[in-house]
Amino acid sequence: MFHLFLLLQQQQQQQSPLDSNEIWHHAMIGGLEMSTSAVVVTLILELWSLDTVRQMWKQPNGKELYITAILYNFVNHFVLGVPTYMIAAIYFCTKEDEEKKDSFEAWTSCLLQVLFILVAHSLQYYYIHKIFHEFPALYRTFHRFHHRFNTHVPPSAANAVTIGEYGLAYVLPFATAALLGRVTVPALRCAIIITIVLNAVVHTPKLETWSQQWIPIFWVSTADHLNHHRKLQVHYASPLFNVDNILVFLLQRRMKGTSLDRDNEGDGAEQIEE
Ligand SMILES: [Zn+2]
Ligand SMILES: [Zn+2]
Repeated sequence: MFHLFLLLQQQQQQQSPLDSNEIWHHAMIGGLEMSTSAVVVTLILELWSLDTVRQMWKQPNGKELYITAILYNFVNHFVLGVPTYMIAAIYFCTKEDEEKKDSFEAWTSCLLQVLFILVAHSLQYYYIHKIFHEFPALYRTFHRFHHRFNTHVPPSAANAVTIGEYGLAYVLPFATAALLGRVTVPALRCAIIITIVLNAVVHTPKLETWSQQWIPIFWVSTADHLNHHRKLQVHYASPLFNVDNILVFLLQRRMKGTSLDRDNEGDGAEQIEE
């Protein structure tokens, strides 16, 4: 693994006109931009959701929970998020082809890479999240804190996760997608920003009713994710591709089943609601 790192570093340095200090500096600025964007998006939606924050603040131990959530947001984004983004950008991403920059081919390739990262992220997040719920020891260690937001879920809950969960479920899927897809830094940044925004959106209760009506069935709606917070064992997918529904759809097609609608979706939804 260390050898692979050295090889990738060598490749990066050979292809780049920047010296190693400049490469690290650029990557750090990129990481800080990502984390600051996450904070800004969360802050805007949080201000819009002040009624939810107020209700949460009033619940038993609500004050402590809210303050811990805010601390986790900062620790995850800046202490963990920035360095891991820097490592992914420097060691895992491929250098852009300067000659083809801004060409139609480069833009198409970038769009396909973004799509690849988003699909790879959705699949990995789905299975890691499901495993958290299926193994009680993992649930207690990594994921239980995020589910303390069950009655009132403010947008800041999106990144109010333990450091272990942030590393495994939030960062690792991007790192593996970047490494396997040999994507460029702009594609990685674009996919991360889309995920950041959608992750905050699926934790915004004001969008719940609207999302139920308008979000296509193969995307994750705010209603889906808030239902997951309440019921625990339904709707594991988040925040973009609705892997739960896609898997049900594929299974139904294989079994020559009939239609799929939001009232009959997700693993175990029926058992929980009965
Ligand atoms: Zn959540
Ligand atoms: Zn969960």
